[in-house]
Amino acid sequence: MERRTFGELATPNQRLIKIARAAVMNAYAPYSGFAVGAAVRTRTGGIYSGANLENAAYGVGMCAEVGAITAANSAGDYEITTIAVVGLKFTSPKDATRVVTPCGRCRQLIFEAGEITRADVTIFSCSGDLAEIRQSTISEMLPEAFGPANLGLREIWPTLRAELARSVQDLEAVDADVSIALER
Ligand SMILES: [Zn+2]
Repeated sequence: MERRTFGELATPNQRLIKIARAAVMNAYAPYSGFAVGAAVRTRTGGIYSGANLENAAYGVGMCAEVGAITAANSAGDYEITTIAVVGLKFTSPKDATRVVTPCGRCRQLIFEAGEITRADVTIFSCSGDLAEIRQSTISEMLPEAFGPANLGLREIWPTLRAELARSVQDLEAVDADVSIALER
């Protein structure tokens, strides 16, 4: 982990962090009063953001990182190389000075994406005011992690993904109504 100042970061990383902070505005966080935004950058240069989503049944809430990673995957652009996380307490007592790091579950999600990408994903954990920025890698944040390689799946996924695409195409080929619906 290294402490960084916003000014010393390369422009693409500054931009990613700013997008993560803009996403904070979309948080649905009535229970904790703690809003988090995340933005991921993929190998193709795609950027996807997410915000935390709470729920009256507390346990089903979603972290901002989940939203951002899911957005990338939903766009067919899962090869994540970098993620920025920004958060702030917006209810009294307000506090935008504490660095927000990914929770344990999110570290596991980031690790999985990184194994498929074969990237030691870079993580920028930031305070809301961006005065505190910590740069680390997922291998630092989640050492000795369990992932798809343990199950022998890292090499197999591209083949499985192609099989998935074929399966969907086969369904579309036999179902004319679905094809028409997609063209509309
Ligand atoms: Zn999390």
